[in-house]
Amino acid sequence: MECAIPDVRNLVKELILKAGERKCVGEQHRPSYSKISQLISGHTKIKDHWAKVTSSEDNDCNHCRVPETIKQYLFECAEYADASEKLENRVEEILYRHNISCGDISVGILTGEIDNISTTAKEELIENIGEYIGATKRL
Ligand SMILES: [Zn+2]
Repeated sequence: MECAIPDVRNLVKELILKAGERKCVGEQHRPSYSKISQLISGHTKIKDHWAKVTSSEDNDCNHCRVPETIKQYLFECAEYADASEKLENRVEEILYRHNISCGDISVGILTGEIDNISTTAKEELIENIGEYIGATKRL
């Protein structure tokens, strides 16, 4: 569920563009779809990945000094605790409103990789993760 998702770039682009047509509030804070799709697909500047594609041996989070992974960035980093709490609360609210029940929030759930999910719910989830990326300014 946390691995690369096929065609994620086009999927995310499509969703963001559609969402953008509908809702223009906060547009300036929204990161590009490429940042979101990079994060989802794992091709990102998150150090766990970056250390593998560059010669860098440093894969620790600058704040926590533990390996920086996508999961660590989204859920565990102390630096982004406020944004992370907001992200999780929003996800729970979106899932509840769309009558989706699932277990612990994973990267897959954040990006709407849920069986039988509506496009609207998926758009909301992806917008939410976009807001997180924008708020943290990490990517
Ligand atoms: Zn950290």
